[in-house]
Formats: sequence, structure tokens, C-alpha cells
Amino acid sequence: MTPTPDIDRLQALDDDAWAQIERQFAGRLYAYVARRIADQQAREDVLQEIFLGAVRGISGFDRVYTLEQYLFGICRNRTIDHLRRRRDSTVSSPLAQDDEEDPLQQLAVEPSNPGSIVGRRDLQTRTRILLVQVLHEWVQETWALGEFQRLMVIEALFLGGWRNRDTWERMGLSGERAVAGIKFRALARMRAIAGQEVENRRLLEALSDEEGSVGGAEGLHVSDEWAASHASCPARHWLARHLNGSLDAGPRSFVEFHLSQMECPWCLANLDDLQQERIAPQALIERVHASTMNYLRSRPLPRDSS
Ligand SMILES: [Zn+2]
Repeated sequence: MTPTPDIDRLQALDDDAWAQIERQFAGRLYAYVARRIADQQAREDVLQEIFLGAVRGISGFDRVYTLEQYLFGICRNRTIDHLRRRRDSTVSSPLAQDDEEDPLQQLAVEPSNPGSIVGRRDLQTRTRILLVQVLHEWVQETWALGEFQRLMVIEALFLGGWRNRDTWERMGLSGERAVAGIKFRALARMRAIAGQEVENRRLLEALSDEEGSVGGAEGLHVSDEWAASHASCPARHWLARHLNGSLDAGPRSFVEFHLSQMECPWCLANLDDLQQERIAPQALIERVHASTMNYLRSRPLPRDSS
């Protein structure tokens, strides 16, 4: 088991804590970058920027998310920044690139990341935290029950944005009503989970709505929070077992669905890292570490030493 990152130590800008984070996450972040940026030097620069951004932003870390979600959120933004800079410096027709091939276009349709939602700090925050907890609990429970088809249907609707009609055909169900029934029961179960925690009207409204939302464009959407919190991403050890072929049929079908149908960018990056296909060279991790340490040492002590 990898140790759980200690957010307090990271926020205190502790050298060892950051070194551990670099060792733990550099490979998968590099794999994500390497899928989208061909140039070796640019990949390295972006990886350094990710960790520097992580250090700079850690004081505002939102504990509703995991550290991996935080890092992947920064990773996506730095990758987009790089691709934009490269595009802007290219003297070619704006229509020269085929959208299908343009990584920037593909990133635009990727699920939003914590960074974009963290900005909306307001009365919603508490409701949002609860909703994310409910989604996680529902996924855990459904997984534990071995209800993988149910999990796939709900993931397809909330994460994939599939319509009921597409979902029943692609999942081999009896019809649209079967999909609607699965969704109805899932939302009811989520309301029950939420009810055990706290009476929260807005949360229950979102979970009662057919579309899983409340309050219009600025409101709470189950699908947004599902994507931002990566509610249904299998833990890394499941991906490792998927690679070595030791998963039972149920979890295997779900993991395959998540990778091939949802094309989850984080899990694909984790998979690359586990397969060591695009792994960050050791020398690169050392350079990233050096630049992070440089930054940490250039800072005044975070706490008054008196
Ligand atoms: Zn995933």
C-alpha cells in the first residue's frame, strides 16, 4: 500500500513530503502528458510546471478531493496551456488541424477538473461536498454488491452523457424503460444515503430530479460532480490487477468499460504508468525534484519559528 499523503505536511511545504509525492505521482502524470505532447523537452517542462503549480496552490487545497484529483486537475490545465502556446506560435491556418487529431480539442471535451469548480466557493460548497461523498458511497456499495452492470449504466449516463436510448442498445438491456428504472432506483438509493448523513434540501432536490440537477446553469449537477470527483474511477490496484489478468468477470467488465467506452484520461495515464510504456525517466524525476526543492527553499518559512 502506498502511504496516504499528509496534506498538513504538504501545506507546511515539507521537503520530504513533497519528494514522496513526486515519486508517487510523477510516472502517471508524465504518462498523461506524454499521450498529448510529442516533444520530449516540452513534456519535461510541463511536468516541472505541474509540480511547481501543485506546491504554489497547496494552501488552497480543497479536501473534498484527493491529492491525485488535485494533481491531475493541474496536469490537465498545464497541458492545455502548453498546447495553446504551441498553437498560437504556429503560423498556419486555424483550420489546418483536424479536430479529431488535435489534442486540444480532445481535452476540451474531457470531464472538468476540480480546479474549475473550486473557484465557485459559495453556499454550494457544503452541498457539493456531501454530494461527492454520496456518489462515492453509492459507487463503493454498488461495487461491493457486484452490480457492475448497474454501475456501468449509471456511469454512462452521468459521466459519459449517454442518452437512455443509446444506453439500452449499447448495454444490451431490454429497452429505454430498463435504463430509466436503473437510474430511478440509483437516485433513490443516493437519497437514502444522503438522508442518513444530514437533511439537505438542495442535495435531495438534485437527487430527485430526472436529470440529476437543480438550480439552472449555476446550480448543482450530479454529472458535473461525478466527473470532477472521478466518482467511478477504479483504484490503481484494480488497474494493476486488470493488467495482470487477475480480475473476476464483474470487475473486469467494468474496468474495460471505463477504459474503452468512457476513455477515462486519468485511468489511461495510470495504466500507461503501470505498463511503463511512457514512464518518466528517473533522471527526469530528479530534475523535477530539484526544481521543486529550489522553489521550496526560496520561500520564507511557512510558520513563525518564534
Ligand atoms: Zn477513471
